[in-house]
Amino acid sequence: MGPVHVVARGFSAPEVFEIDASEIPHEQARFRLAVELTKKQLAELQTRLEHLAGDNQSEIFEAHIMMLEDPAVIDRVINAIAMRSQNAEYVFYAVMQTFLEGMRRIPDPYFRERTADIEDVSQRVLRNFTADVDSRPLGPDESHILVAYDLTPSDTASMDRRQLLGFATEQGSVNSHTAILARAFGIPAVVGLSCSVIDVTTLSSAILDGYAGKLILHPAPATLEHYRRLHAEKEKIRCALEATRDVSTETVDGHHLTVSANIELLEELELVTHSGAKGIGLYRTEFLLLNGSDIPNEAVQAAAYTRVARAMMPHSVIIRTLDAGGDKLPVEPLTEPEPNPFLGWRGIRVSLARPAMFREQLRAILRASGVGKVSVMFPLVSGLSEVERARDLIRRCMDELDHEGVPFDRQLPVGVMVEVPSAAVCADLLAPHVDFFSIGTNDLIQYTVAADRVNPHVADLYRPTHPAVIRLIKHTIEAGIQHGIWTGICGEMAGDIRLTPLLIGLGAKELSVGPQRVARVGQAIRSLNHAECSAMAADVLRQTRSYDILNQSLDIARKSYAYLLD
Ligand code: PEP
Ligand code: MG
Repeated sequence: MGPVHVVARGFSAPEVFEIDASEIPHEQARFRLAVELTKKQLAELQTRLEHLAGDNQSEIFEAHIMMLEDPAVIDRVINAIAMRSQNAEYVFYAVMQTFLEGMRRIPDPYFRERTADIEDVSQRVLRNFTADVDSRPLGPDESHILVAYDLTPSDTASMDRRQLLGFATEQGSVNSHTAILARAFGIPAVVGLSCSVIDVTTLSSAILDGYAGKLILHPAPATLEHYRRLHAEKEKIRCALEATRDVSTETVDGHHLTVSANIELLEELELVTHSGAKGIGLYRTEFLLLNGSDIPNEAVQAAAYTRVARAMMPHSVIIRTLDAGGDKLPVEPLTEPEPNPFLGWRGIRVSLARPAMFREQLRAILRASGVGKVSVMFPLVSGLSEVERARDLIRRCMDELDHEGVPFDRQLPVGVMVEVPSAAVCADLLAPHVDFFSIGTNDLIQYTVAADRVNPHVADLYRPTHPAVIRLIKHTIEAGIQHGIWTGICGEMAGDIRLTPLLIGLGAKELSVGPQRVARVGQAIRSLNHAECSAMAADVLRQTRSYDILNQSLDIARKSYAYLLD
């Protein structure tokens, strides 16, 4: 509950204002500075791309840099600032618009294509005028509910959480990484708002209800009162759960399940150790590797992985190798956008195509395995050959470290994420080659029912309890059992306590969930009877509708722990 703060970003016309004659040199200097900064960033991008992909691909940035060295552009802006007596960013914007207009009228397709390059460079320069503003956290200094058209995962990671009551975005869906991060930090959030952000005014008073997915503007006194009571009740349950964090997670009939945590950032470690999680079931390393301007080298990665492994001792940490692409950050700026990013250059495909980068990550993981209990797993595996190639690289890294006398775990457990339907269907073919399976339901659902996990228009089709999804989970777990390996679940489904009876019944051995969900899932497990869950899970395999499957699980959940359900 609190005032709203609306943020906007993107390539729109910057603010325009008159300047005094005495301010002209200052504005011209600001322009030169923004250009220099942009050139520097482009040169860095170029070097990074050369290193990763060779010369041809990096030429694009060469062309962008040349554009910023063209006197026709630079002098025109410098002169226009003096002539128009307007702020530098606006003059730059206006000059570039004139260029673009001119080029769009040339019938030659080559020139028309170049307009995209000019737009790209212009956007970078404009961002660099406000670099100091942009690097500040998004919201104001007082408590507020942030409302935005969209937020990137890195926006979410860098928010000043002390003043943030919660956020709401017009775009996005509950399974986007922005939403996953919000859950990890316990930030109330609503994504995919049905109203338009431009209709929301800063400083309106509001209630953000993350349970029901509502942003209530200008609430009536009775509504405020209702939410105050709800808040007090939730706090009571949260405190009671905290007291249970060291209690073992066994069902009432003595069946043990591990509840571990998913992390994205090292900052979350404290939350995880506090949550009572028995290990980390998914460490999403893309946030470490792709957040800066360069991929951190082996030593930096090894230090981060070692820190996580040490903090979690005596429990184990499953480090997932880089999962770039799709809805996440790309590993390198692609020269043209992919028509289908989710079906494109993602996950292990990128790592196998960039062996030098992959090798650094694997060596760093192996180094950490010499210090704590570490496993490795690969994202977006679609078939056996990818596993074989990755294992081959691990063997080579082990040989190298052996020669260098660096200690590591020779028995490092190697697992795959089962998140592509082909991997689930062929789980029996993969199982003999790995030590464990971890089912990534977020992607498994989207690929099975062909509904984008971040697209609110198809959110209704994205059903975790779709019979096809449940059958794939069942098949994977059984293939694992037949080959003597265990299967865990690390997608968002694992943290949804309406589904805990179903996942236990299907035979999952580990549930890896956001740190804020650990205690709740643990308490749900302690309230359930394994035999009853197994009977229900066998029964739902005959059900035809997702709704009925959900309800069968929910019936047991309600009977066993109604007070924990949202
Ligand atoms: C998943 O797909 O379920 C998963 C855990 O991985 P991510 O959400 O990072 O794609
Ligand atoms: Mg995934």
